[in-house]
Amino acid sequence: MFGFTPERVDLSTLSCNLVHMTVTSPLTSHSVLHGVPVVPGVQYAPVIRPGKLPDVDNDAEGEIAEEKRAAEGERFTAAAAAVAERLRERAAHATGAASEVLAATATLATDRGWLGAAEKRIRDGAPAVRAVNGAIDQFVEMFTKLGGLMAERVTDLRDIRDRVVAELKGLPEPGVPVPDEPSILCAEDLAPADTAGLDPELVVALATTLGGPTSHTAIIARQLGIPCVVAVAGLDDVPAGTMVLVDGTRGIVTVSPDEGPAREAVAEAKRVAEAAANWSGPGTTADGHAVAVLANVQDGAAARSARQTPAEGVGLFRTELCFLNTDTEPTVDEQATIYAEVLDAFAGNKVVIRTLDAGSDKPLKFAGHPDEANPALGVRGIRIAANNPGLLANQLEAIAKAAERSGNPPWVMAPMIATAEEAKNFADKARSHGLTPGVMIEVPAAALLADRVLEHVDFLSIGTNDLAQYTMAADRMSAELATLTDPWQPAVLALVAMAVKAGAAVGKPVGVCGEAAADPLLACVLTGFGVTSLSAAAAAVQGVGAKLAQVTLQQCRDAAEAVLGTASAAEGRAAALAVLG
Ligand code: PEP
Ligand code: MG
Repeated sequence: MFGFTPERVDLSTLSCNLVHMTVTSPLTSHSVLHGVPVVPGVQYAPVIRPGKLPDVDNDAEGEIAEEKRAAEGERFTAAAAAVAERLRERAAHATGAASEVLAATATLATDRGWLGAAEKRIRDGAPAVRAVNGAIDQFVEMFTKLGGLMAERVTDLRDIRDRVVAELKGLPEPGVPVPDEPSILCAEDLAPADTAGLDPELVVALATTLGGPTSHTAIIARQLGIPCVVAVAGLDDVPAGTMVLVDGTRGIVTVSPDEGPAREAVAEAKRVAEAAANWSGPGTTADGHAVAVLANVQDGAAARSARQTPAEGVGLFRTELCFLNTDTEPTVDEQATIYAEVLDAFAGNKVVIRTLDAGSDKPLKFAGHPDEANPALGVRGIRIAANNPGLLANQLEAIAKAAERSGNPPWVMAPMIATAEEAKNFADKARSHGLTPGVMIEVPAAALLADRVLEHVDFLSIGTNDLAQYTMAADRMSAELATLTDPWQPAVLALVAMAVKAGAAVGKPVGVCGEAAADPLLACVLTGFGVTSLSAAAAAVQGVGAKLAQVTLQQCRDAAEAVLGTASAAEGRAAALAVLG
C-alpha cells in the first residue's frame, strides 16, 4: 500500500500554533471569517485562487470497446507517468520541505495501489478519466476513514487525480497562477505540489477552507514564513481580486476591510515582530517586575535550540515525547542520559521536568494503557503510576541520576493531578530521590483546591491546554470546538487566578506552561494574576518577553481584573487589549 509517511509533528510547536483566538477584529464593519491560525503574521492583499480544476465527469464517455481497452490503459499509464515526471523535476529544482512535498506527491503518483485500481477499471471497460476518478475516490474514502494525519493526505490524492485527468484531456496542468503583484492565495485546500512552488515575495499569505495544522499547506506556509490560516468557514465565497486581511496570529480573515486600518494592522504586526526580535531578556515588566520567561522543550536538541533564545530556563520538559516511538521502557541509565542533555543545555538555569504524561493523545507503548472508551478522561498522566508504580519510580531515579551527572538540580512535576492526596504521594516519592516536587494544575478539581494541593508541594505549574479542555468539556484536538478551548475563556482564567492566588498566599511559585503563556497579551494578564513564570514554545519566547517589557505591572493587574469580569473569550481579549494596547 502507500509508502507514504505522515509528517512527524513537533508537538511543542504544533500546540503553540493551535492557540485559537476568536476575537472580533477591530475592522468589523466587514465580514470577519474565523479559522485555525497556523503561521503568525498579518498581510493585506488581493485574493488569487488556483486555476479551474478539470471536469472529472464520470459518465459522459460511456463504455470502452473491448479491443480499445489496452490502448486506453496505455494512455492512462503515459498520463500518470508524465504527471509523476513533472513533479519529480519540480522536486529536483526546489529545496527543503518544498522539495520533500513534491517528491512525496510524485511517489504517490506512481504508487501501485491506486494505479492498479485504475488499470483494473479500464480493463473492465471504464474510460481512463472515469477509472482515475473511481480509483482515487476509493482511496480517498479509505484515508478519510483512517482519520487524523491520513485524512489530511486526501488532498494529495485529489491533486494527483486532477493532474492526471488534465493530462488525459489535454488541458493545462491545474494549479496556482503566478500573480503580478503580492497576493493572498485562498483555496478550498491547496494541493501540496502547488504550495511547494510558491514564491513568498508574490504569495504573501495563505488561507484555506479545509486543512488542519499538520496539512501540507500548513507545513509549507511555515517553511515560507508567510501567515497562514486554515479551516476558514465561508472563505469559498470570497472571489479572486477581493482585498483581504489575513491575520495568522489570531486565525482571522477579514474580507474587504477599510484600507487604512488594514495597512496599519500589517505595519503594527511588523513592528511587533521587530520588537520581539530585539528582546534579549530577562523577563520583566516595563517597571521592573520580574516574571521568568521560560521555554517548553521535548528533548536535548529542542533544549539546545531554545538556549539560543533569551529563555531563562525550561518551564516544561515533556518527557513522554522522547519515547513516543519506543516499544519497551527505557532503562534508568538511558533515561538519565536523555534528561541530562536538557539539564546540560540549560546548565545553571531552572529546568522543570515533567514525569511521563502518557495516555490520551500521547500513548506510550510501554505504559500498558488499558483499552478505554474515553482516554482523555481515563488512565493518563500520574494515574498510570497507580497500576505501574515502577514506571514512575524508575523515572524519578533517572532524573536524580541526570541531576547528579549534570550538576543542575531540576524541579520535577507530575501531570494530571486531581487531588491533594495524589500530590502528596508524588511529592513524597520525588523528595525520597532528593528532588524538588511540584504538580501541574490541569484538572479543575486541582485548581479549586490548589491551597490544599500546595500543602504538599513546592510549586505549581498551570497547564492551560488541559485545564481548558476539562473546564469546558471540549476536546482540545477538535478544530470545531476551538472557541470553547480558547484559553481566554473566562471560566478557565478564573481557575488560573484561583490557583495563582493560592500560591501567593503561601509564597510558593506558580507558573503557566500551557499555550496561554505563548500569547503575549494573555501572558500580561497572567502576570497581572501574579504568576511567577511563563513557559512557552521557544518560538514564542521573544514575543512574550517583548510585550511584557512594554507594560507596567499595574496595567497587567488592571487587565487581569477586567478580563475576570467578562463573560466570553472575545470580550476578555477586547478588555485586555483596551488596557494593554
Ligand atoms: C497543558 O495541558 O497545558 C500542558 C502544558 O500539557 P500538555 O499540553 O503537554 O498536555
Ligand atoms: Mg496537559
